[in-house]
Amino acid sequence: MGYRAMQLACYCGQVPDRILEVGFTSNRHVVVHFWCSACSRVLFVSHSLDECEKSCPPPDVDAESQSSAEDARFLNSIGITTAE
Ligand SMILES: [Zn+2]
Repeated sequence: MGYRAMQLACYCGQVPDRILEVGFTSNRHVVVHFWCSACSRVLFVSHSLDECEKSCPPPDVDAESQSSAEDARFLNSIGITTAE
């Protein structure tokens, strides 16, 4: 499974060293509160579900084909042949 960290940065350009809270809003946004120690303030980012989806890495094709190869091997072992 692919993974990509959410990019957080303060207006000053610093990467936060502390995440205070992660939550969800009533209009289905993900909200992350974080603390910038460089300028001593609390900031937050808000992402809609669409934005979250766009931020996701592409599907892990290798793992998919690997597991279907394993499936085929298992099916073969119980006498079922898969045509691909
Ligand atoms: Zn800052």
